[in-house]
Amino acid sequence: MWLKCLADLIFPRKCEICGRLLTGDERYICEDCMEDMPLTYYWDWPENPAEKKLWVRTHLHRVIPLFFYTRESQYITLIHKIKYRGNIRLGHYMGSLLGEKIKRALPDVDYIVPVPLHPLRKWRRGYNQAEVIARGVAEAMFGPSEASDKVLTDVLKRTRYTRTQTKRKMDDKWSNVANAFRVRNTDNLSGKHILIIDDVLTTGATLEACATILVKELGCRVSIATLAYVE
Ligand SMILES: [Zn+2]
Repeated sequence: MWLKCLADLIFPRKCEICGRLLTGDERYICEDCMEDMPLTYYWDWPENPAEKKLWVRTHLHRVIPLFFYTRESQYITLIHKIKYRGNIRLGHYMGSLLGEKIKRALPDVDYIVPVPLHPLRKWRRGYNQAEVIARGVAEAMFGPSEASDKVLTDVLKRTRYTRTQTKRKMDDKWSNVANAFRVRNTDNLSGKHILIIDDVLTTGATLEACATILVKELGCRVSIATLAYVE
């Protein structure tokens, strides 16, 4: 403990949301910001609004985001840090928070599949944020020893370099990503329950494209979990 206190003196750790110094057992987010996090509680709510949003195009088992994402919310900064500023440890930690919340709602998940980035984009960024989050989720759901075998990164492949989608209209987005994915590794996933992970659920076009291909081509059951949810 004294070593931890000493380390805090030399390398002060700050809350990723409000910037206040962290103490004791606090990790990445202070107690107050943790308490104020706008959680969805959708893990306790089958047929929640996120599920209804995505049921339009393909049947999914569960859809569970961790917290609401609004433009005014300071919690947006978590996504920015994970996605654009290389904070991989924060991504892993947030993934483990998500995993803790959803593991009781999804007791029979067989494998976790992060939404892939196009190889060029992954090369530019240096990592896939969805994969970082997925590894945190797997650790919370399956324990550290099994986690790495549970994350499958070679099943889905992104074949098209889609443009950034933030300003595009919904229909446009759907056609943009509908054929952007291919399945690669097809062994023994028929009938398995796959949990797809991404950082944010917005229109769901990307996630639906991934889910559809896993359901239709591999015969999987599919659930989705994300850190943030844009209503
Ligand atoms: Zn804070």
